[in-house]
Amino acid sequence: MPAPRHLSARHAPNPAIRRAEHLRRTGLWATAIAIVLIALDYFTDWQVLLSPIDHSVRTNPFTLVAVGLAAVALLRQRPMQAPTGFVTGCWLGVLGIAALFPLSGPVTHAISPDGNLGRTGWNTALALALIAAGQLAHRLHPRQATHLILAAIVPALVALNGIALGAAEFHGEMSMTSALALGGLWLASLRRIARERPLRLILPDNRPGRLLRRQVGLWLAMDLGLLLVLRAFELQGAAVYPAVHSFQMLLTWMLSFYFSMEFAGLLDTAQRGQTRLRGEAERDHLTGLATRRAAERHYRQISARAQRFTVVLIDIDNFKRINDRYGHACGDEALAAMAETIRARLRVSDFAARWGGEEFLVFLHGVPTDSGTLWAADLQDALDRRGSLVPGLPMLTVSVGITAHYGAPTPPLDQLVRHADEALYAAKEDGRDCAWFADPEDGYRLRRTTPRPAAKLSPATVSA
Ligand code: GH3
Ligand code: MG
Ligand code: MG
Repeated sequence: MPAPRHLSARHAPNPAIRRAEHLRRTGLWATAIAIVLIALDYFTDWQVLLSPIDHSVRTNPFTLVAVGLAAVALLRQRPMQAPTGFVTGCWLGVLGIAALFPLSGPVTHAISPDGNLGRTGWNTALALALIAAGQLAHRLHPRQATHLILAAIVPALVALNGIALGAAEFHGEMSMTSALALGGLWLASLRRIARERPLRLILPDNRPGRLLRRQVGLWLAMDLGLLLVLRAFELQGAAVYPAVHSFQMLLTWMLSFYFSMEFAGLLDTAQRGQTRLRGEAERDHLTGLATRRAAERHYRQISARAQRFTVVLIDIDNFKRINDRYGHACGDEALAAMAETIRARLRVSDFAARWGGEEFLVFLHGVPTDSGTLWAADLQDALDRRGSLVPGLPMLTVSVGITAHYGAPTPPLDQLVRHADEALYAAKEDGRDCAWFADPEDGYRLRRTTPRPAAKLSPATVSA
């Protein structure tokens, strides 16, 4: 059953899949042209015109059959669907023919005693086998299949270099038409792996994708350009080989250096962006304090060192009424002022975060048992002394839940916060504006901390 129009790769909304589909069609056209040229070559001697080395190499009929089977399989393979038995059969056929390549010489010799039909070269067989194996393995092992299909271009490139340099031993006896057919099959096979990592990187229309495509394009242009220049000036053979080789090395080094610099630049930009984003994600922009996420990361760091520390959870009392009576903007100002009051009481080793709406979490490090209690009392006294944090607003009070941790092993943060939260809840129940302690040395039993020495006279607080 044909895929619905909107599901076929050509109409896929993903540009990478569309680009892969474009490659598939280009590849199939290249393969079709190669097949016509191969057939023509059996009757005319046109390839001699192109062949750079003394005796022209023909595409062997074995190769032609394999290329034909592969092209049919690629035509019949529906995008994003499991291959049919027919398609699988075609690929198995290609694999079988590739495996028979040592026999191709004697067999074609029997057909054509002058050896005119040549034999399937080892690198042609290797490229065919890699493509067929990649196609067959794709459903079970997509990652390995991707590598096989991508690797199939290497024998063809080796052959191109051999053709460029006129060196039969590099050339590996691959004919120009076989190279064209294999290149086409390779392009047409890429759609199969368009969702895999290497192609996901090459195909999208973004900076890294464009850079990678430019790199592959220049690399191929270098090989093909060299081929054309050497042929135009008849510069092939052993005598010019060292000079050509040095020139090629020079170009390769320059290209590698250029692209390494470009990729390093991209990586640098990405890393800077990541650092900036992390900074933004870990700083609460209303209060300037750390976010809950940053507090969790900080806790992972301090708990790895298994220090003694105190956890203080602070909640503003009756804050909803501030919002209701004075507006959200005033509420925001009050939150920022509260954060500032908390921050002013931190030492360098302490850490404060906005834990939720009007709740703050403070880690006090390496402190004696009752320091959390003292710290909370100091904060509450400071709020008393300052009176209104924001002009026009009533004085704010806070309820505080405290717990502590001594030595290893450190409990998970949510467990500590839960104990601090129980203490905070007790403080709210106790009439607010006070602090409760969940004592870790007494099974986290809750007790009210020593009342603050300064008795409060604050009629202007937000009353219940
Ligand atoms: P309690 O004493 O029991 O803590 O009472 P409460 O009103 O402080 O607590 P409640 O949880 O009922 O309400 C918290 C309020 O905090 C509700 C919400 O409007 C306010 N709030 C939370 N985040 C923000 C914020 O970013 N800006 C402002 N202006 N208000 C906030
Ligand atoms: Mg609250
Ligand atoms: Mg509150």
